[in-house]
Amino acid sequence: MRFPLHITTDMIKWQLKNKLNGQSRYPVVLMLEPLYTCNLACVGCTPERHQGDLKDRLSLDQCFEAVDQSGAPVVSICGGEPTVYPELPELIEGIIDRKRHIYLCTNGILLERFYAKGKPHKRLSINVHLDGMRDTHDFVCDKPGVFDTAVEMIKRGKQLGYSMCTNTTVFRETSMEEIEEMCEMLTGLGVDGIMISPGYHYQALETNHFLYRDEIHQKFKHVLKLSERYKISLTPLFLEFAAGERDYPCTPWGNVTRTPFGWKDPCYLIGKKYFKTWDEFWNGVDWDYWEKREDALCQNCLMHSGFEASVMRKLPESPQDMLRMAKWMMAA
Ligand code: SF4
Repeated sequence: MRFPLHITTDMIKWQLKNKLNGQSRYPVVLMLEPLYTCNLACVGCTPERHQGDLKDRLSLDQCFEAVDQSGAPVVSICGGEPTVYPELPELIEGIIDRKRHIYLCTNGILLERFYAKGKPHKRLSINVHLDGMRDTHDFVCDKPGVFDTAVEMIKRGKQLGYSMCTNTTVFRETSMEEIEEMCEMLTGLGVDGIMISPGYHYQALETNHFLYRDEIHQKFKHVLKLSERYKISLTPLFLEFAAGERDYPCTPWGNVTRTPFGWKDPCYLIGKKYFKTWDEFWNGVDWDYWEKREDALCQNCLMHSGFEASVMRKLPESPQDMLRMAKWMMAA
């Protein structure tokens, strides 16, 4: 199966529960950023995301409160670099106790230390950042040797019995032949899923590495083809959307983001505002406005964090799409 059965059934149960309670909007994924401290400063990452002081991190209680308040069945721990978070083992244990599924998003540099303290669990997947093969990835991370460490840690994680995934951002310079080479290599390592995201252009960005909408469509036509051969963890309907073959409204409330600054309005990518409490955030964001994608900041966005939830939201409207998704989920 594309996703482990227990994740799929928990997601379906959560959706049914919300429907039965008459909730039309509910989070599916919590993007938990417990710290804005990092051991790298990658191209395309904003300084606020990696230059934070460790003492400004969220406490364990604040993290657990965010997990409980959002109710989302999946928690993606990102940052900053989560393996720098001193209380990471306790954080993972507490989220597993709450019966949520965790994606631990990491650059891999400190994974050896994490492996020494932790142990595999069916509710934990490690998601290693990898933006291409050696030269490209080390360029993006602005540090030689990061690619070799990441690959070594993927191998080590597999040996230890962890579920290992990867996360790749496609930039303007990214060669799709190289992405194919990377998928082939990762398949050889036995990874459990390959996530590929478009690095999209918005007005605030000053670098030239990010893609406009038409460029994303071109790159993702390749990714759509690659998904026939490799275990790419994006739904075929989302990939068709990214390739410009179908359209969706945004679902920013599907992936909510808790950061050291507060709850992020409106989405993982844009921080127009930060709210101190869950209630202020959930009731204060103008979801109707952001769903329409009319804001200038949304014009080139085709991110899975905004639109995979849209795929799920719109699924009941098309029996044909439901059948395709069921087949895709069952596929090896
Ligand atoms: S379209 Fe993208 S940038 Fe705009 S709200 Fe949705 S996820 Fe955020």
